[in-house]
Amino acid sequence: MSSMLPNVLSSSTSNTSVADELSSSNETYVTKRGAKLNLESIGPKPTKKVALICCMDARIDAFSAFGFKEGESHVIRNGGGRASDSIRSLVISQQQLGTDEIIIMHHTDCGFFTFTEDKFRQTLKSNGYPGPDVDLMSFMPMSADDIDESVKEDVEYLKNHALIKKDSKISGWVNDLKDGSVRRVV
Ligand SMILES: [Zn+2]
Repeated sequence: MSSMLPNVLSSSTSNTSVADELSSSNETYVTKRGAKLNLESIGPKPTKKVALICCMDARIDAFSAFGFKEGESHVIRNGGGRASDSIRSLVISQQQLGTDEIIIMHHTDCGFFTFTEDKFRQTLKSNGYPGPDVDLMSFMPMSADDIDESVKEDVEYLKNHALIKKDSKISGWVNDLKDGSVRRVV
């Protein structure tokens, strides 16, 4: 199905890709990291028993923002850092991998402030993407004017979700990309 979609939204004409650079970048990483840190020895269960949900935004260093190290926290990322988009991973995080705390973090200057659902759907349809598929998908745009509200909404969503542990500790935060600071909303 996906191979049939017209690639009309892509503006890239370059033949090079980031994938071409990955191997040499990784060699540098492995050398710097050294053999002393065997991540398999930590195991897949986060030692802080926490799952952080945040946006896919390329400017966010999710571990550093909260001072986490490898092995300490799950990081579930999606567009906007939305709770409803994270449920599948969260259920496994809690039931299989032992987490009981959830941190939701939205951020300033989010790409999800830049469009409305209606207009984005219109753009997709006018670019040839199939209308029924476009209408079925919620793209979850947000507003910069009520970023605290979107955080509160997501915390409430998780508190009321049937598949989330009832005794989960859940907090909501805003990350200010101007200086990297985080502020607790709820
Ligand atoms: Zn974002």
